[in-house]
Amino acid sequence: MEFSLTPEQTERQARIHEWAERSLNDDLESRDQARTFNREGWRSSAQLGLAGLVAPSRYGGAELDPLSTMAALEALGRGSRDNGFNFALNAHLWGCVNPLVSFGSEEQKHAYLPRLTSGDWIGALAATERGAGSDLSSLKTQATKRDDAYALAGDKMFVTNAPVADVFLVLATLDPSRGAFGLTAFVVERGTPGLRISERIDKMGLSTAAMGEVALDGCIVPARNRLGPEGAGLAIFNHIMEWERGFIMAFAVGAMERQLEACLAYARGRRQFDQPIGQFQAVADRLVEMRVRWETSRLLLYRFAWLKCESRAALAEAAMTKLAISEAWVRSCEDAMRIHGGYGYLTKTGVERDLRDALGSLFYSGTAEMQRQILARWMDL
Ligand SMILES: Cc1cc2nc3c(=O)[nH]c(=O)nc-3n(C[C@H](O)[C@H](O)[C@H](O)COP(=O)(O)OP(=O)(O)OC[C@H]3O[C@@H](n4cnc5c(N)ncnc54)[C@H](O)[C@@H]3O)c2cc1C
Repeated sequence: MEFSLTPEQTERQARIHEWAERSLNDDLESRDQARTFNREGWRSSAQLGLAGLVAPSRYGGAELDPLSTMAALEALGRGSRDNGFNFALNAHLWGCVNPLVSFGSEEQKHAYLPRLTSGDWIGALAATERGAGSDLSSLKTQATKRDDAYALAGDKMFVTNAPVADVFLVLATLDPSRGAFGLTAFVVERGTPGLRISERIDKMGLSTAAMGEVALDGCIVPARNRLGPEGAGLAIFNHIMEWERGFIMAFAVGAMERQLEACLAYARGRRQFDQPIGQFQAVADRLVEMRVRWETSRLLLYRFAWLKCESRAALAEAAMTKLAISEAWVRSCEDAMRIHGGYGYLTKTGVERDLRDALGSLFYSGTAEMQRQILARWMDL
């Protein structure tokens, strides 16, 4: 068993870390308050290959293997304190780019991937509806076949990137009586008549990642924009979730390392009762717990990436990775706040922002409760 990264992976990590620290952190406090998406940072991230990490090079992608992809995303999270940006990039990669790589026709790949990997276009996944969150089988967005096209009608909720996205992967049903087995996926471009994107939806954290609702009202999509065969929507969605759950917490593991370094420095420098606070057992215990959470999270992450390098199915491991790291991240953010005392509660220190951002991970890509359900079924319960 080999635990070290290759020199090439290490060198790429250093490059991304240095770039992210230099390019993505300026004005973060005001961008977080104004809820501004960093479009310039997005273009610049694409130049480093981040917008197309998993896409083949013939479509402009970086064509990285899963371990190298994981290492790149971890380095992004370590360098960039803008968790919203990091999250938006993951939504683009796992909700749009990767499914196009895996299920797209040659025509679809040529039409979309070069624009998505170059940073010109941003992708989004529109699956969730007001009445259908955890329960995908109750999706109501209807697809109706019309000659060589489909008419889509329905409303999507919680779509990350929607206000800034150029292309949407939409899940709709051709046959509601078949539940999740009636689902089909479509690639829908911004500007398609009948597609309406709401204003930004404001949320507790990840404020620099734009989110919106997507309304489809007699939206006509040519048949060539169907992703995979009719009825393949569930298989495509499961594939999306497996990869997304496995990889989406990589930036959080990078963030946990950065957070730990900051907390250690604070605990060594801040003095009360004539000694550094880190010398109080209660504070040291929190730092130790943060270290253990970071290390164990990292192991889960890289085990998942290794399984994907071996082309193994890893649905349960993806659920475990997402569940364990999201909850570890939230707990470490709370520890970071407590270590910083009252200063952790002040907006300008950025410590409270990390907690607000981390809490979102308990819900996106399926709630923590749903990951537990997947694991319970996997354990034959
Ligand atoms: C920051 C963020 C980004 C998101 N981005 C996207 C996106 O880009 N595209 C997209 O399509 N969606 C996105 N979502 C939506 C997300 O996938 C859903 O919020 C999530 O699946 C939960 O659905 P819900 O909010 O409707 O909650 P519900 O499904 O209504 O759940 C409510 C509560 O009931 C619990 N619950 C439900 N069913 C069960 C069960 N069977 N067993 C135990 N507990 C259960 C849940 O765990 C939760 O605690 C995003 C959400 C967030 C918060």
